[in-house]
Amino acid sequence: MITLEKDQSTHTESVQNYVNQVFETVKKRNPNESEFHQAVKEVFESLIPVLAKKPEYIQHAILERIVEPERIISFRVPWVDDQGNVKVNRGFRVQYNSAIGPYKGGLRFHPSVNASIIKFLGFEQIFKNSLTGQPIGGGKGGSDFDPKGKSDGEIMRFCQSFMTELSKYIGPDTDVPAGDIGVGSKEIGFLFGQYKKVRGGFEAGVLTGKGIGYGGSLARKEATGYGTVYFVEEMLQDRNLSFEGSTVVVSGSGNVSIYAMEKAMQLGAKVVACSDSNGYIYDGNGINLETVKRIKEVEKQRISAYVTDHPQAIYTENCNGIWTVPCDIALPCATQNEIDQASAELLVSNGVKAIGEGANMPSTLEAIEIFLENNVLFAPAKAANAGGVSVSALEMAQNSARLSWAFEEVDSKLHAIMKNIYQNSKKAAQEYGAPGNLVIGANIAGFVKVADAMIEQGVI
Ligand code: GLU
Repeated sequence: MITLEKDQSTHTESVQNYVNQVFETVKKRNPNESEFHQAVKEVFESLIPVLAKKPEYIQHAILERIVEPERIISFRVPWVDDQGNVKVNRGFRVQYNSAIGPYKGGLRFHPSVNASIIKFLGFEQIFKNSLTGQPIGGGKGGSDFDPKGKSDGEIMRFCQSFMTELSKYIGPDTDVPAGDIGVGSKEIGFLFGQYKKVRGGFEAGVLTGKGIGYGGSLARKEATGYGTVYFVEEMLQDRNLSFEGSTVVVSGSGNVSIYAMEKAMQLGAKVVACSDSNGYIYDGNGINLETVKRIKEVEKQRISAYVTDHPQAIYTENCNGIWTVPCDIALPCATQNEIDQASAELLVSNGVKAIGEGANMPSTLEAIEIFLENNVLFAPAKAANAGGVSVSALEMAQNSARLSWAFEEVDSKLHAIMKNIYQNSKKAAQEYGAPGNLVIGANIAGFVKVADAMIEQGVI
């Protein structure tokens, strides 16, 4: 508990000390979880101005409570591969915060998945979901299972085993998972099938990102990438800039990246580079998106295959080398910490004007610092990539109403949501003395709604 000082700077200092103390406890309680610490540090530092202004958040121990997941489930996932060998993976679901709605957030299947990754993603999801304006709490889950190189049969058996356990903890009004890295419509289909079988009922709203034929929403596939570009478009407009005629680099070549490229191209940008976890391609003529879609969505090949169809393009090993490509706008849409200090410095010295984070936490804290210091427009992930989960919430709404909206209807709702997130983040940054700093603005705007709900609901 802090004592309120008359002098504003002494007061801010004591709030800073309080925040540091809570952060130290987080580190002690969650040792060796560097990604989780990074996500918490960024949010906590952003919240200092709001805590200084509204002592009730400190009195009600909101920071101490919000950083502690309501529940974490960790479970064994045994399955049998095509050769008959028994394999065991670890499954997770973190049910982080349900103050404003059922837990909501994706599942990530990737060998790097561990408690730190799932907790950082779950923590971010609380604020992201609040920013969408939809009634959804924060959650995340996944497994260290690597879908790469697995047969459809192996993926199905893994998903069935994963869901047999997870089904005990989720439901349309409790916790609603979706996709993330390594989990697309194929995996969601297998997960939904198993949930339906073990629960004995068709509960459409238990998962989002479903196939269109059984309760999925049109425009969900495009939503994260389109949403990132809609958000960046708003940010650019404020500085009289636009995608039209600009050179864009988009890392990744998964769902987020492909649809960010598509929307940027529709708005008149030339996208010259994209990547996968092995390397990146540079095509000075502008990337041919149909080829990328065929390679990644149909043939499931590596991005290096692009040069077979487009010999003028260059493939280079080392995916992070993509940030050496000069551009006006960079959209990191691959994974966490893909832009470090050195890459940020390179982007700045090559004249980048704006960064839009399509992936979750793709820039390190040092990289963000460099962008902000150099007056580069910076759209932070929890605001810029909120389009995916926004349309997931619209999918839940359609499932509850037992109807489905046209593509244009969902897309226009998504566009309105992204504009709204931009305006709310910008306004919060201004109100709390950091005009133009969307990192602070998004964190505060997302936090306030959840914190107020937590106070109203008592100490739980
Ligand atoms: N995995 C996505 C995210 O990071 C989407 C989550 C969802 O649709 O629930 O926000």
